[in-house]
Amino acid sequence: MKVGIVGAGMVGSAAAYAMALMGITSEIVLVDMNEALAVAQAEDISHAVPFLSPTVARAGHYVDLAEARVVIIAAGVGQKPGETRLELLGRNAAVFRSVIAEVLKAAPNAILLIATNPVDVMTQIATRLSGLAPERVIGSGTILDSARFRSLLGRHLGMAPQSVHAYVLGEHGDSEVLGWSNARAGSVSLLPLAEQLGRPITDDIRKHIDDGVRNAAYKIINGKGSTYYGIGAGLARIVRAILNDQRDVLSVSIVTAEVAGVQDVALSLPRIVGSDGVLSDLLPDLDYDEREALHRSASILKERADSVPI
Ligand code: ADP
Repeated sequence: MKVGIVGAGMVGSAAAYAMALMGITSEIVLVDMNEALAVAQAEDISHAVPFLSPTVARAGHYVDLAEARVVIIAAGVGQKPGETRLELLGRNAAVFRSVIAEVLKAAPNAILLIATNPVDVMTQIATRLSGLAPERVIGSGTILDSARFRSLLGRHLGMAPQSVHAYVLGEHGDSEVLGWSNARAGSVSLLPLAEQLGRPITDDIRKHIDDGVRNAAYKIINGKGSTYYGIGAGLARIVRAILNDQRDVLSVSIVTAEVAGVQDVALSLPRIVGSDGVLSDLLPDLDYDEREALHRSASILKERADSVPI
């Protein structure tokens, strides 16, 4: 099975490496406008393969994406000094205009997995440009934020994060909404369970976890310039769910007909992911504050997406 990656920078190459480590596909094709970079990344990953499961990692051109089941789009440009967020979005929209046309020419049946930030707006742009059904254009969204939320909750409760079910909704970014009221561990609601375990979620603990989830990326960027291992593994996790038709519940971003009173906006909800992309949405029960926060997050994203000229 072939997976394509357009954009062989930090995020694209980390996704390729994570897929090779996880042994989820037989072939990975890396495409980048900087061909030498794509070649170098593919070579470096190939040298890890003898220690892993058999995966062919190679650099290629768009035509080499033919028959790819999934194409990750991690191509983009960085912010220039003095550039506004909107100007940056305009330049990334221009990148997507050419990249998506080329990808679809080579692999019209591929599911697109969008990683370029701001990921929700780029997912909305990719959906418009591609003309594909929204469930086949998936943004990595809050997959990583939800993983951070679950691991911080698990650490506090003394439980494996795999047994904690909690999701971050809305934007992958400042307006994201931590779904506290519907979080569960095992089959028990989080707050009573935390009391039972003698590890109550006090206001301080809640603030600490909220901060850990919301500001994780800023802290990493301060320390090392950018984030890529976490999102690389998150992308590989989504690809595995698609290739194996696993129907896992993952918090990912797609253009959604209506969320919290806002129409036609790309944002994250827990969704069932399988071979045809997103199969269904699972909108959790939210309390009043969370619903309001989700409305706000959806409105911000919608406004931002509408302001980008396509
Ligand atoms: P990140 O940390 O998000 O991965 P990088 O700058 O490391 O950011 O990677 C982005 C990659 O996208 C770069 O390797 C760049 O060459 C690539 N890229 C930018 N524009 C295009 C394009 N139009 N087509 C293909 N690749 C592109």
